[in-house]
Amino acid sequence: MAPGDKLGVIEEFLPGQGTYVDGGDIRASRAGFLLLDLSERKVTVFRPTEPRGASCVPRPGSVVIGEVSETHQTYSLVRIWMVGRKHLTSFFTGLLHISNVGLRVRSMFNVCRPGDILRARVISVKNRVRHLSLAGRRLGVIYAFCTNCGGLLKAREDKKLICETCGSLELRKLASDYGMVVL
Ligand SMILES: [Zn+2]
Repeated sequence: MAPGDKLGVIEEFLPGQGTYVDGGDIRASRAGFLLLDLSERKVTVFRPTEPRGASCVPRPGSVVIGEVSETHQTYSLVRIWMVGRKHLTSFFTGLLHISNVGLRVRSMFNVCRPGDILRARVISVKNRVRHLSLAGRRLGVIYAFCTNCGGLLKAREDKKLICETCGSLELRKLASDYGMVVL
């Protein structure tokens, strides 16, 4: 329902919350869902439970997609730009610590590197930073780029990544659908 939409006439219904009467018509005064109470013959417009866009904020439990902006020995920083299938209008910062990769690795450089695109789960929010996890088959890098030449890396059967341009071999923590995700 949008404001001004005709919901009924006052001969049929009582105007409830979120409505107004215009002539003999009952109209919506706000956007929301229409509720017809047939026992009381009352018409009401309910506001959606979340304000528009609120579902696009990455929260604990959200699966997000982002680009790795920095990699250090024990953590990486991620610019989050998708929540589920929704593109965000601004970035959120994600922090992936080596203890949340879901594998035992010695260095974050074997997990993800700057420029890589990855899928992660938000596990907590502290000081507006989203702490991320890659534990799980579907979580991990979905596109990775060669450290030498920037070429797209292809996954081999042994799970190593090869650059078809320069032949370099690299390691990442791969998502099960590496290289096949439509963004
Ligand atoms: Zn290369």
